[in-house]
Amino acid sequence: MKIICVGRNYAKHAAELNNPIPDDPIIFTKPDSALLRENRDFYYPEFSEDVHYECELVLRIGKMGKFIDQKFAKGYVDAIALGIDFTARDMQQKAKEKGLPWALAKGFHGSAPISPFLPVGHFPNWADIRFTCEINGEIRQEGHTANMLYSSEYLIAYISRFFTLTKGDLIFTGTPAGVGPVKVGDHITGHLEGKKMLDFHVR
Ligand code: ZN
Repeated sequence: MKIICVGRNYAKHAAELNNPIPDDPIIFTKPDSALLRENRDFYYPEFSEDVHYECELVLRIGKMGKFIDQKFAKGYVDAIALGIDFTARDMQQKAKEKGLPWALAKGFHGSAPISPFLPVGHFPNWADIRFTCEINGEIRQEGHTANMLYSSEYLIAYISRFFTLTKGDLIFTGTPAGVGPVKVGDHITGHLEGKKMLDFHVR
């Protein structure tokens, strides 16, 4: 399986990092070794001093497809979860300044915690899904899919023009405003439609 991520999909988040609104979705990938399941502890990496959380809605692909029409996109997703796109912001910033790829800043060990999945049937309206991220019990991010620059259906259609999507692939759909650093000892929780999905510690 592969992990496909979308950058700058919420206008307020693009603004908080002084990034322009993109003309097309910004796509990057993480290796499957980045996954962190079952709310296991996240170990702070030694190569960064500024790891940020980015809480995101995650779509799981249920069947193979390419050149998927946007109006059929929903049929390619079998489950939805909440994930964190951990980012070594200091490394990413250096890479951005030099026009170099973000692969290491975004794809290191454990940089993609993923919650248990809920069947896609729990989400009748993809434009009205809400999620939150709390650090030590304090709400830091409030996501609402109505505020996405590119809808989940559009993203599936767009990505599948380039990558063949296969069963089990995960799409991290971008983060809303409110990202920030984590530190050792932090307790990270995430709620999807009010249900606690993420609940783990930084070690
Ligand atoms: Zn992200």
